[in-house]
Amino acid sequence: MKYTPAKPPITGETLDSLTERLREQGEPTFRAKQILEWVYKKRARSWDEMTNLPKPLRAWLDATFDFFPAKLVLGKQSTDVTDKLLLELSDRSLIETVIIRAPQDGVGIEHSRKTICISTQVGCAMACAFCASGLAGLKRDLNAGEIVAQLLNVCYREDALTPRARMELASFDNIVVMGMGEPLANYDNLIRALTILNAPWGLGFGARRITISTSGLVPKILKLADEPLGFRLAISLHGATDEVREKIMPVNKAFPLEKLIPAISAFSEKHGRMVTLEFILIEDVNDSIAQAEALADIARDLHAHVNLIPYNTVEGLPWKRPSVQRQEDFANVLRAVRVPVTLRREKGHDIDAACGQLRLKTEKDRDALAV
Ligand code: SF4
Repeated sequence: MKYTPAKPPITGETLDSLTERLREQGEPTFRAKQILEWVYKKRARSWDEMTNLPKPLRAWLDATFDFFPAKLVLGKQSTDVTDKLLLELSDRSLIETVIIRAPQDGVGIEHSRKTICISTQVGCAMACAFCASGLAGLKRDLNAGEIVAQLLNVCYREDALTPRARMELASFDNIVVMGMGEPLANYDNLIRALTILNAPWGLGFGARRITISTSGLVPKILKLADEPLGFRLAISLHGATDEVREKIMPVNKAFPLEKLIPAISAFSEKHGRMVTLEFILIEDVNDSIAQAEALADIARDLHAHVNLIPYNTVEGLPWKRPSVQRQEDFANVLRAVRVPVTLRREKGHDIDAACGQLRLKTEKDRDALAV
């Protein structure tokens, strides 16, 4: 489960840890800031670009750290607003990172608001019945550097030759930790990575624009509530009663709604901000009016926003998306009692909701070719 790469990624270093490594090496400690500035601000693509560092130091960095721990191997563009990137790690594991664009009136899609959805594990142990990422179980946790590197992969583009062009291409508005894996099951690496993304010497990305999504690991939600950085929280609920939730989310056995709901409440009280309840609508599983009413009660008590996501078929799984009328009927129950609700419509989310499929397919192809 634990993987130690031959060389640790530079993107897993904090200012303190890198300063310490340089001190041990007999280098001046101010070099740590210079190095991180090249990585995050100037978006260097090689050690050789770090021209204000002496050559022997660049050679040491090259021998000590992995510059690109997550390499882009495939980019897939959906019909409208979503791009999916398949990244290969140093042990050849594959992970997915998704770019989701929110179309705005009068603005071309290339200038629309961008959300980056990142992964935290290779596979997932949570075994949610509807999810492609959980189909093959958990392979391993990502280290902090691999989590951070997903963002840098979005920032880098082969055609962006100057630091300024890289910065322009790097602009995105939100990060959601909602890709492959259960983020809170990889807690320490997650927090280290988000600290690096947030820090002024790192990517400088505001904590309020970072959302962590969990299937409901109650002790970790309570731990997250105590973190000094105020990240946003989303809960993959997908069932508004224990009976329904348990059918599709095994995590509900350990943390049923009577434990989960107070933990969400404690989080939002501590951070004073609205939590999002994610609810994938699956035909004849959780799309009844009774489920909508139960969900409305939960959302009202928690002052939560509800995000309804019509299910997208996953190869090898039997579940289906409800009709548009049924989706609307469900949403109307929530609207009637003034619960803030979003019903996703964009086609591009097909590859977003079916997270994990691109990786599974590529792994199968690779096995077939034995490469
Ligand atoms: S939905 Fe999330 S928590 Fe559940 S198996 Fe898939 S990746 Fe894991």
